[in-house]
Amino acid sequence: MESNENKSLETDDTKCKVLIIGGGMAGLSAAYHLSKNGFNDYKLLEARKRLGGRIVQIKMGNEPIELGANWIHGVLGNPVYELAMQHGLVDIIQTPKPHKVIAATENGKQVPFATLHEIYEAYLCFLRRCEEYFLSQYLPPEGIDSVGDHIKLEISLYLDKIQEPRERRLRELLFECLLKRETCISGCDDMNEIDLLELGTYTELQGGNITLPGGYSSILEPIIKAIPSENLFLEHPVNLIRWNLNRRHSIDNGNDSDDSDRTVVEVSIKSNSSRESSCEKAVQFNVEIDCDNGKKFYADHVICTIPLGVLKHNYNTLFQPPLPDYKKESIERLLFGTVDKILLEYERPFLHPSITEILLLWEADTDKPEGQDDLSKSWHKKIYSFSKISETIILGWISGKEAEYMETLSKEIIIETCTTVLRKFLNDPFIPKPKNVVCTSWHTQPYTKGSYTAIAVGASQIDIECLAQPLYLDEEETKPVVLFAGEHTHSSFYSTVHGAYLTGRTAAQMLLNTDTPQEMVLDCEDDADLSSWVQGICLE
Ligand SMILES: Cc1cc2nc3c(=O)[nH]c(=O)nc-3n(C[C@H](O)[C@H](O)[C@H](O)COP(=O)(O)OP(=O)(O)OC[C@H]3O[C@@H](n4cnc5c(N)ncnc54)[C@H](O)[C@@H]3O)c2cc1C
Repeated sequence: MESNENKSLETDDTKCKVLIIGGGMAGLSAAYHLSKNGFNDYKLLEARKRLGGRIVQIKMGNEPIELGANWIHGVLGNPVYELAMQHGLVDIIQTPKPHKVIAATENGKQVPFATLHEIYEAYLCFLRRCEEYFLSQYLPPEGIDSVGDHIKLEISLYLDKIQEPRERRLRELLFECLLKRETCISGCDDMNEIDLLELGTYTELQGGNITLPGGYSSILEPIIKAIPSENLFLEHPVNLIRWNLNRRHSIDNGNDSDDSDRTVVEVSIKSNSSRESSCEKAVQFNVEIDCDNGKKFYADHVICTIPLGVLKHNYNTLFQPPLPDYKKESIERLLFGTVDKILLEYERPFLHPSITEILLLWEADTDKPEGQDDLSKSWHKKIYSFSKISETIILGWISGKEAEYMETLSKEIIIETCTTVLRKFLNDPFIPKPKNVVCTSWHTQPYTKGSYTAIAVGASQIDIECLAQPLYLDEEETKPVVLFAGEHTHSSFYSTVHGAYLTGRTAAQMLLNTDTPQEMVLDCEDDADLSSWVQGICLE
């Protein structure tokens, strides 16, 4: 795509070459890479009043708090880390803070550290074994198709060797706590939902998890700075993507409200009419986008970064013509679970300075029939730990249906419940009430409807590849008309910010490429740096 294609459209804010839907990391990355390469004939439509999507920061007291992404997962080969380095956002002489975890039972008894260590090591082994199925030719035991089932099988074999009932029970509770933690990492309600053979599709980058001193959100600034502000349209929720316009639109300068006289056919058959001049300047568009606020936009290509959670709700009405069946089926098969944060702010510190996290070893409810949870009584038992964010801010993680229930509760109930939990597990009735609580509501958020993508039992990495597949108008087109980006479209970094960033970049690359068939261009040979797929395009 050449930048001289900016044509005379610059004055018209409803028409452009490329529309980007969504201003989270994927959409911003697409815009950033288009602009970096001198192509500015695009517009980004964002539903919310802010950019960043699932990267969002608030202040609690003076403390910056991330409500969504917090860690850069991995350093080597992570483009987000590289970007952060490039813009001086990483404190490389930052000394890692000591992390002292304790585990406590409901009666306030602490588990010996050696036991915690032993179980954690065993658990990691069980998890690694699950990951190995993806690349090995071995099949799991018959009837075991989920990560949860496989780990539980290993746990029962492990516990069989422990004779002493109390020791055995303690270990069982530790394993259960680690499984709850895993639901927060994977983004599901229960590990029984996660496909065993596909766990290994997620690729972990080396270098551990790192945080930015200014919070993950500080990465947004250098990206947004490179995007012309006039290209950004906030509060523009898209409700319809017409992507295969049989009737083609021509630009009717100065009048974009009347749709009826825009078809090429209609304009071109008229003679001696004032329309002729607009016909001469006619530019045809493949895509028409409708927003909730009544505005329409026209473009040749659209990059859709709408999250999987939202697509699950509206894919049937959002696209016209409808998405191909293979895409619909993949949207249905993949999982978009809920993971929330509960942030408690205190007047003064109360946790021992050396403790950074308390794992909560909940006893299972033995009296309730299987599958009949009364969430009003049990939701809090899904909180697997409380960890210190600062001396006066404590974070609890919660996932699944309990997180979705928590999103409906009042602040008072959450404060009351969390205080009771902390007093019980720390065996200290004087633990103060927090002065404030902030809970995320990723499931309720209409423009997210969940937290991140996971591969459900019966789904596979191929489903993610199907979601990523662009749509072409016809076989002769070298550039797609609809491109898809977002964490849910990266086959090995799904659920992450760097996954979202890379998919936005790939979409921009596809549109920036000269009209060479894309198979020839996406040749990365033995390049360790994923940046140099396309020569001549400035990737950073
Ligand atoms: C609690 C939590 C913790 C996380 N922790 C981490 C972490 O530590 N590290 C990590 O790498 N990742 C983490 N993630 C995941 C990470 O935040 C996401 O993978 C990433 O930000 C997704 O980017 P995206 O652009 O694909 O989607 P989004 O950020 O969701 O962006 C999509 C954008 O589209 C907009 N939109 C939706 N519908 C419409 C519409 N109809 N019209 C117009 N705009 C629309 C939305 O408002 C949004 O701005 C976390 C996520 C959550 C929820």
